[in-house]
Amino acid sequence: MEQNLFVYNTLTRKKEQFIPLNPPHVGMYVCGPTVYSDVHLGNCRTFISFDLLFRYLTFLGYKVRYVRNVTDAGHLEGDAGDEGEDKIEKKAKLAQLEPMEIVQKYTIDFHEVMQIFNTLPPSIEPTATGHIIEQIELVKLIMEKGYAYEVNGSVYFDVEKYNQTQDYGILNRRNLDDLINNTRDLGGQDEKHGKLDFALWIKAKPGHLMKWPSPWSTGFPGWHLECSAMSNKYLGKQFDIHGGGMDLMPTHHTNEIAQNIAACNKIPANYWIHTNMLTVNGQKMSKSLGNSFLPHELFEGRHTLLNKGYSPMTVKFFMLQAHYRSTLDFSNEAMEASEKGFKRLMNSFTLLDSLMASGSGEVEIASLLQRCYDAMNDDLNSPVLIAELFEASRIINSVKDGKLKIDAENLSLLKQLMNGFVLDVLGLRNEQAANDDLPNVLNMIVDIRNEAKMNKDYATSDKIRNGLQNIGFQLKDGKDGTSWSKI
Ligand code: AMP
Ligand code: ZN
Repeated sequence: MEQNLFVYNTLTRKKEQFIPLNPPHVGMYVCGPTVYSDVHLGNCRTFISFDLLFRYLTFLGYKVRYVRNVTDAGHLEGDAGDEGEDKIEKKAKLAQLEPMEIVQKYTIDFHEVMQIFNTLPPSIEPTATGHIIEQIELVKLIMEKGYAYEVNGSVYFDVEKYNQTQDYGILNRRNLDDLINNTRDLGGQDEKHGKLDFALWIKAKPGHLMKWPSPWSTGFPGWHLECSAMSNKYLGKQFDIHGGGMDLMPTHHTNEIAQNIAACNKIPANYWIHTNMLTVNGQKMSKSLGNSFLPHELFEGRHTLLNKGYSPMTVKFFMLQAHYRSTLDFSNEAMEASEKGFKRLMNSFTLLDSLMASGSGEVEIASLLQRCYDAMNDDLNSPVLIAELFEASRIINSVKDGKLKIDAENLSLLKQLMNGFVLDVLGLRNEQAANDDLPNVLNMIVDIRNEAKMNKDYATSDKIRNGLQNIGFQLKDGKDGTSWSKI
């Protein structure tokens, strides 16, 4: 098996060779969505990036157990996720629905969007509410080890005590005094001994809906706890990869590590991988900033920021043209360029099956194939991979035009390269192929126009011609009838 994959590990701030604990098995945990609203495109970027990693590991032959949770309770509004109202409950109260109706609606929406983007489902998708017992057990363990304390039915993690023997800032590289001095005092935190302490278990206030009995109170788990409990349950005390968006690193993942080390004395994952943000005019796309748009708004061009709509695979291609650790700024110009690029790639993909091999050839595909692997092995460099795929596409077009000869062996390698890297690794779908019925529909429209012309109904015939022109098809009237072509 290829052992040349290097990934950037936030823990060490270095690109490191990926060596799994237990090859060919790989355990990967990714923090999933909080299902209280529609996923926006920024969220999608993160999950598409981890889909790329999942797909590439699988492509290399690893047997990946990919766990991605759904946060369906316990994520409060404050910066650290443990102050204020529960995001799901707040939405439920506004809509006068049960919290679980909100959870159901947005989980279904999330799955649908993930499918539209052709991402693979994770191996296990555990929910916070489905693992209350495991979370309570974990709180007990952390208390037994002396790193947590109870006040009025809530349990808090004692960060300062933990930091006496461990390094709380191991992931975010911040020292404790710095963190303490830079943490806002929000008030209402008088139960916590220290400013940085975070809730493991929260006693439910009167009127709180999503609550469970525990040894300390009827309440609910703190947000960071679920990921520690569920990664431990499904991947063990130590596993290979833990991922999420970069915004989760400073607090959520820092606290997850502290919980796992406090309970098991082991850092849970060896490689911590973080994806960068999708931005709009340089600002992180986020619901609270009001600059987020939904995937469907982009597909249909239904948003004031958009000039027109783009197909799901065009949007995915646009995302993959940036490296996952770079920010990606959304603009109409960038989308248009991606649309052209994606069409160019897929047009050549469609030609692949019609290429004829020659007895002897002038192209050698093996080195191009190696460059595709090299790009992905270099911390999943999808933009470089796509540049190599454009080279493959140039070769395909030249062979088709008769300008270049390719022998059977290289043709078969070229097909393997395109199918492997375009479909399996990048997870792109040939949307043109999905439109098999289009020629029949167009022929039928041309027939209707001919009838209109015969009836001297020129208004209708012009309407059809102009309408087709607007959506990218040109009609040519000739001696042998009317033909159509793509503009
Ligand atoms: P949430 O549902 O808010 O917990 O977010 C789900 C995932 O989306 C997390 O991994 C976030 O880091 C990620 N995320 C949120 N906003 C963006 C963005 N603008 N670009 C990329 N990823 C994001
Ligand atoms: Zn998490």
